Parts: sequence; C-alpha cells; structure tokens
Amino acid sequence: MEANGVPTHFVDRPSAKEMRVKSVKIIPLEVVVRNIAAGSLCLQTGLKLGTNLQPSLVEFYYKNDHLGDPLLTRDRLRLLDLATDDQVDQLIKMAQWINDLLMGFFQQCGITLVDFKLEFGVDAAQQILLADEISPDTCRLWNQSETDPDRRVMDKDRFRRDLGNVEEAYQQVLKRILDQGV
Ligand code: UDP
Repeated sequence: MEANGVPTHFVDRPSAKEMRVKSVKIIPLEVVVRNIAAGSLCLQTGLKLGTNLQPSLVEFYYKNDHLGDPLLTRDRLRLLDLATDDQVDQLIKMAQWINDLLMGFFQQCGITLVDFKLEFGVDAAQQILLADEISPDTCRLWNQSETDPDRRVMDKDRFRRDLGNVEEAYQQVLKRILDQGV
C-alpha cells in the first residue's frame, strides 16, 4: 500500500512476528468495501450471493460490540461525531483507492476480492492513515479456479461456515501472494 502511495501506519518489521507502527487515534469505524454481494449484505437486502456490485459499495459500521456493530449512514456519522464530512469523503476515497489496488493484486493471484474491512486512524498531524491488517480474516477471497460455491472460499468463511480446510486455504492464499514476489 505504501509503495502505491496509500498512507498507512506501517513503519517496519523488526522480526517475522513484529510490526512497528505509527501511533494513531483509531476512528471507531469498520469501513467495508464490497465488489460482490455476500455476508450481511445478502442477509439484510435479500440480494443473491455472488451478485456483481457496480459501482462497488463503501459502507460504515460502528465499532461497538455492545450495539452489535450497526451500519451507519452519513447523517448518523455526523450525529455521533464519529467523523467530519470531510473525513467521510476522505475515507470513501481511500477505501476505493485501496480496493482498486487490492482487486488488481488479487486478480494476478487468480483470486476474486469479494469484500473486505478496513480501519483507519488519525495521526498527530491529523492525517488519516490506513491502520489495519489485510488478510483472509478480514477479506472474502474466492479461488477463481473453483466454481463450487463452498470449495472456492479461501477466507474466514471456511471457519465461520465450518467448511473445513481453513489452514490449507490460508496457506494457498499465502503461496499465491509469495508467488507474486511480494
Ligand atoms: N469483517 C471483518 N470484521 C468484522 C466484520 C466484517 O473483517 O468485524 C469483514 C468480513 O470478513 C468481510 C467483510 O468485512 O470480508 C464484510 O463482512 P459482512 O458485513 O458481510 O459481515 P459478516 O458476514 O462477515 O458477518
């Protein structure tokens, strides 16, 4: 992301299991980008799983376990003082930009990026930074060489839906990413 110009909290990786990051104040929002209908979008709207979404959706969910992470509107974001209008515009732009980069990247891995979640933070200079992991735990990833709706799943849905072979799927994602020379 940094190499492509997206500002992130990443500094460096002192060891394989450590990541140094810039200190930020996390905006308590889950920013979800959807290219294909799945998960809660299908449950809440009745859209059929796999429906192509054009243009992609950018949605905001309130990070609040007590309230069950509800979907927020722009007016509610303003009402709850979670982000200014300007910040909301920036978050949408950054989310779309990251989506374009990730879709192209996963396409080269033979993987369809269905949807994903991002979190952002604000640094001391009031700049918004991407401050999250991007992994099969936070993305829906479908294997393009499988047509079967269960077999194609390469993400946390394997665990959530008890589909088995969770680790194998994650290893396959890692292998394809490493094969790209990352
Ligand atoms: N997601 C996440 N953390 C959450 C909720 C969702 O990383 O707390 C990701 C999820 O893996 C998926 C996307 O956000 O890639 C959209 O999730 P959705 O709203 O469909 O909810 P779900 O079906 O995962 O409950």
